[in-house]
Amino acid sequence: MAKIFIDPGHGAHDPGAIGKKSKEKDNVLKVGLRLKTLLEAAGHIVKMSRSTDVFIPLSTRASMANSWGADYFVSLHNNSATAAASGFETFIHSGPVQSKTSGFQAAIHKAIAAHISIKDRGQKRANYAVLRETRMPAVLIEYAFISNSSDEDILINKVEQLAQWTAEGITAYAGGSVKPAATKPIPAKPAPAAPQTSAAEELYKPSASAMVNSTATVLRRLENKADQPLDPVWREKLLAGEMTVSDAIGAIYVALDRGHIVGKPE
Ligand SMILES: [Zn+2]
Repeated sequence: MAKIFIDPGHGAHDPGAIGKKSKEKDNVLKVGLRLKTLLEAAGHIVKMSRSTDVFIPLSTRASMANSWGADYFVSLHNNSATAAASGFETFIHSGPVQSKTSGFQAAIHKAIAAHISIKDRGQKRANYAVLRETRMPAVLIEYAFISNSSDEDILINKVEQLAQWTAEGITAYAGGSVKPAATKPIPAKPAPAAPQTSAAEELYKPSASAMVNSTATVLRRLENKADQPLDPVWREKLLAGEMTVSDAIGAIYVALDRGHIVGKPE
């Protein structure tokens, strides 16, 4: 049994790469949620950087895995280039890595390459933040090119299979065994019903707009004080009054990360 951290890339205002029919952030979240279920059924403990459409900065993803004490880190992405580019590839960090890291990459890579039926672009290395800043064996998977029409069909229509092959690769290295693929795809779990709240609780529940407004107030004060201004994407949304709840949460994450929010509120 191992502690496995699954990191579906991007989220919220960061869609990742955009195809004709889908967005990277949605495709990788679907695979990540199925992968979690499969790995838990195989006896592992799983934590995800995100299980909904929220924005989480790259360094926060790595520090979440580090502070949890993950044994393995797997980041899920879709590739993008010209319409002609196609294929599957995996990455580990370009700097010195533990020998376990390349073994972990090889296991995942082989399991997916054996089934995915598109070009194998190889086991690669790159200086990506989540690979650099994580302390455990970490692999980033680029399943296929969202910019290529038939690759994108795989990303959209083979969620169950992508999760299955990835789980087979992870367990080949980390132990445990995944059940053979179901002949029919298992439907995704329905979203949990909203919790029932009493009338009294309802009174204190902040509305989405109240939350965004109070976040905006905090961010405006930070902007006046902080040595690093807000990220431009949030500043524009703030000024345009277009900040969403997930943007607000993302902005607060970053402010916390940079130590702009400490101690008691003013
Ligand atoms: Zn990506």
